[in-house]
Amino acid sequence: AFDVLVVGGGPAGAAAAIYAARKGIRTGVAAERFGGQVLDTMGIENFISVPETEGPKLAAALEQHVKAYDVDVMNLQRAEKLIPAGADGLIEVQLASGASLKAKTVVVSTGARWRQMNVPGENEYRNKGVAYCPHCDGPLFKGKRVAVIGGGNSGVEAAIDLAGIVSQVTLIEFDAQLRADAVLQRKLYSLPNVKVITSAQTTEVTGDGQKVNGLIYKNRATGELSTVELEGIFVQIGLLPNSEWLKGTLALSPRGEIEVDARGQTSLPGVFAAGDVTTVPYKQIVIAIGEGSKAALSAFDHLIRSSAP
Ligand code: FAD
Repeated sequence: AFDVLVVGGGPAGAAAAIYAARKGIRTGVAAERFGGQVLDTMGIENFISVPETEGPKLAAALEQHVKAYDVDVMNLQRAEKLIPAGADGLIEVQLASGASLKAKTVVVSTGARWRQMNVPGENEYRNKGVAYCPHCDGPLFKGKRVAVIGGGNSGVEAAIDLAGIVSQVTLIEFDAQLRADAVLQRKLYSLPNVKVITSAQTTEVTGDGQKVNGLIYKNRATGELSTVELEGIFVQIGLLPNSEWLKGTLALSPRGEIEVDARGQTSLPGVFAAGDVTTVPYKQIVIAIGEGSKAALSAFDHLIRSSAP
């Protein structure tokens, strides 16, 4: 059995594995796709101390760092079920492959995925104008025109944030009204370079073959189609935590995020969680790395306090 089994191989999982392995305890990582969301990222400019890098490069560096330690890396393994410790004191993680792993402690770091619009052009122009993270990609659109899709809290926050960087923000909301908190809406409507369009369904992302040049939306009342010319589109219609497999096992927030305390402890003793899959706010690489390290230290603390040898 592992002392610490990490489930998920993004920045949070990599950090947890390194911190655990450095304690000289038996450490494993099971990941569906080692590298996580970082693999899908082009430019990264906010990995502190590295002014500029690329996702695949950072993912390779994470893997190399993990493999410098005695860590059992099990890539292309999807966890399907977590079974709390029984009489033997071991937590079981069942994999889609049919195999099952046992561990004294588990760190869940299965991350999240952005909900997509699923319209023509969205995938084609991903990272070529279609973006999901204003903290990450906002500065790339300095002085340009962008749209934000979604009028919930994250969409309106993104629009306010981007309005200070770009020349023009068009916020597009499917419903007849925005769903963001009133204080955010007041701020939004006070900004001179933001236009809000409600009852609008985005139907297509258009581009010149290289980059985004606009979007088409349908007025849901009249059915009329309109075009917005722009250089960037920030899709803010939800971040979905990869926690479906833990429903009924760990306490999750209404949004499906694993509830953790300041030490990364979940509702189940011996099970810790870190990164985008948790309730910890601001989904960023440096934050996931910090939280992963913290969860591994908490797992180690749990091990030295429990009676099992
Ligand atoms: P993830 O990176 O999501 O990793 C999750 C891991 O768990 C993966 O290995 C996945 O395969 C695995 N997994 C999922 N489900 C299972 C399962 N059931 N069983 C086993 N394994 C599973 N952040 C920044 O700080 N700067 C940026 O510039 C930046 N740009 C971004 C651009 C894009 C396009 C995207 C999508 C995100 C960007 N982010 C950026 C956000 C950043 O990538 C995430 O905050 C970070 O990767 C979260 O790390 P994580 O380890 O929690 O989860």
